[in-house]
Amino acid sequence: TQAYLDAIEPAGDLNAYVLSTPEKALEMAKASDERIAKGEAGMLEGIPLGVKDNYAVDGVRTTAGSNMLKNFVPQYESTVTANLWRDGAVLLGKLNQDEFAMGSSTETSAFGPTVNPWRRDGSDQPLVPGGSSGGVAAAVAAHICAGAAGTDTGGSIRQPAAFTGTVGIKPTYGRCSRWGIIAYASSLDQAGPIARSVNDAALLLRSMAGHDPKDSTSVDRPVPDYQQAVGGSVKGMRIGIPREYRVDGMSGEIASLWDEGAQWLRDAGAEVVEISLPHSKYALPAYYIVALAEASSNLARYDGVRYGERVPGRDIVEMYEKTRAAGFGAEVRRRIMIGTYVLSAGYYDAYYVRAQKVRTLIKRDFENAFHAGIDAVLAPATPSPAFGIGEVSGADPVEMYLQDVFTVTLNMAGLPGIAVPAGLSGDGLPLGLQLIGRPFGEGALFSLAQ
Ligand code: GLN
Repeated sequence: TQAYLDAIEPAGDLNAYVLSTPEKALEMAKASDERIAKGEAGMLEGIPLGVKDNYAVDGVRTTAGSNMLKNFVPQYESTVTANLWRDGAVLLGKLNQDEFAMGSSTETSAFGPTVNPWRRDGSDQPLVPGGSSGGVAAAVAAHICAGAAGTDTGGSIRQPAAFTGTVGIKPTYGRCSRWGIIAYASSLDQAGPIARSVNDAALLLRSMAGHDPKDSTSVDRPVPDYQQAVGGSVKGMRIGIPREYRVDGMSGEIASLWDEGAQWLRDAGAEVVEISLPHSKYALPAYYIVALAEASSNLARYDGVRYGERVPGRDIVEMYEKTRAAGFGAEVRRRIMIGTYVLSAGYYDAYYVRAQKVRTLIKRDFENAFHAGIDAVLAPATPSPAFGIGEVSGADPVEMYLQDVFTVTLNMAGLPGIAVPAGLSGDGLPLGLQLIGRPFGEGALFSLAQ
């Protein structure tokens, strides 16, 4: 713990931590030493971790990357972090993210962008670590935590993992409790780890997962020992290559990485077949309707009354307006407006209901593939390697949304997905591949990823 704490300050340029908690860390490490001395070590005993800043940690400021919560200190603990501490892990601090997890670059954080520890060969230009769990991925890649907990609504674990050469898994919807995680889009949000190896990710997920009576969407199903699956044989598994993912303009680099990944799986004894997921092309637009509709509703709670910031006004309406205008950044405000629009009386059927129908079709595409004997789907994690800070976050927000083209499909279907480092781009940046599994098929994903 001390070694990690010593490493955090010199890495301050990365802006990976929103808040480090050295006193608490040393206290927890000491308690951990005592448990070890008593022979009571848990499966994560003494392991120093970071936590994305949308997990409520009792007594520790939790901002979700927003000015709205810049002084919010929860008096309760999220279930997932409670599970980590139960198993002996140590908290190093809270990690930066896009505001309310809305973004793909960590540039929408109210606390400034996080910098990717990687650079293009021969260039000093700072790059984004991806998002929204950008602080998580950067901290893991920079060795300023041993692993970390992120969240993934449409790619926020897998895309940053791919951009930083780390491993990230979004488990099946319901595998981890969402209780105490600041909500973005409740039917899509899931917790998951980012780690430096498949084995570490398996260990962390085992601790984080499990049923929680406080989240009615968490599933009451035993948590397997995922580490047993790491290194397990993939012989005879059937891997689908969805032809619709060969999107227009896919870079040659990504296409050949994908082919190479398929060959590795063939070499390991898996059967690789082309499949069709015909509704894939509607996933991104449908996601940006469903997610924003839910977000507009979830974020209604920040009214300046119950908790969070308040800017006074002459009457309550003006207080709401001033509070929300000051507390939310531009991207969050845009999304609340779009979400409110698609839920409004005249447009509900045209947008929201249709997007929900599309969501069902996307889910059925995967069900059909699994029914035909496919065990997992192999796809790129991202359309490109990490981009420069400011390079995509320009005038057109849709350009940033296009980052999520390969990741949102499985959130819409509730399926697990893992991003695993698979090579380097021509200019020396990490590239990731993604494996999508059957519901609760995380074990198979760990075997394939390894
Ligand atoms: N980039 C996607 C979005 O902005 C996904 C974010 C996430 O998974 N939290 O909605």
